[in-house]
Amino acid sequence: MRLQVLGCSGGIGPGAKTTSLLLDGDILIDAGTGICDLEWDQLQGIRHVFLTHSHMDHVFGIPLLIDALFVHLDTPLTIHALPETIEALGAHIFNWSIWPDFRQLPEPERSLLRFSPMAPGEVRTVGDRSIEMIEVQHAVPAAGFLVSDGEGARFCFSGDTGVNDSLWPALNRVDRLDLLIIECAFADELAELAGAAGHYVPATLVTDLARLDGDARIAITHIKPGQEEQIMAQLAEAAPWRGFHRLRAGDVFTL
Ligand SMILES: [Zn+2]
Ligand SMILES: [Zn+2]
Repeated sequence: MRLQVLGCSGGIGPGAKTTSLLLDGDILIDAGTGICDLEWDQLQGIRHVFLTHSHMDHVFGIPLLIDALFVHLDTPLTIHALPETIEALGAHIFNWSIWPDFRQLPEPERSLLRFSPMAPGEVRTVGDRSIEMIEVQHAVPAAGFLVSDGEGARFCFSGDTGVNDSLWPALNRVDRLDLLIIECAFADELAELAGAAGHYVPATLVTDLARLDGDARIAITHIKPGQEEQIMAQLAEAAPWRGFHRLRAGDVFTL
């Protein structure tokens, strides 16, 4: 698998783009502002989008992506997400007011935008990639994805989450985990805000990481712009034995 980080910041700012990962050219995981830099042929290669949750920094690109692809598509673009996420997109974006309801276009029975509800624990297969949805804890219903290929390589993307009891057992069930991309949005000083908003801070993340078996590489994502160095320093201080990688737009993982 080839996993390209298009955006991984917790907000916008100079050089900061929000969450979007491109897997093997045809699967997008979240569709934040990171998709804006894709080349035209890369945009046209996308056939599936797996959404972690409904927040703007993760769904920003969906309306513009389907608009850009619409006249070129011969097969639908499929959005895989929790039912609550799909409901929010339908009510608040694809409502003819903010954006046309592409689920009805060109006609409802041959729509080129398909929403496919997915439940935690459910596995979708796209080619030789299997994508399992895992429940996490955030301010709105949210999920992470555990992705593996036919050769057994496996990574997990947490999406947005705070302390939770569902991600760790799900990861410990598998026999191999090569990479865990996990969020740590705020610095320890903002622990109260992070708790209320459903995000990790270094102290809570390091505590939860003690529940993870194995020796997966750990990459930190969704850092709020301006807190990057502080958060990475706090993580390193709390768990000096772990080599935390600060995820950056442009990173490519070959798994
Ligand atoms: Zn969020
Ligand atoms: Zn977010």
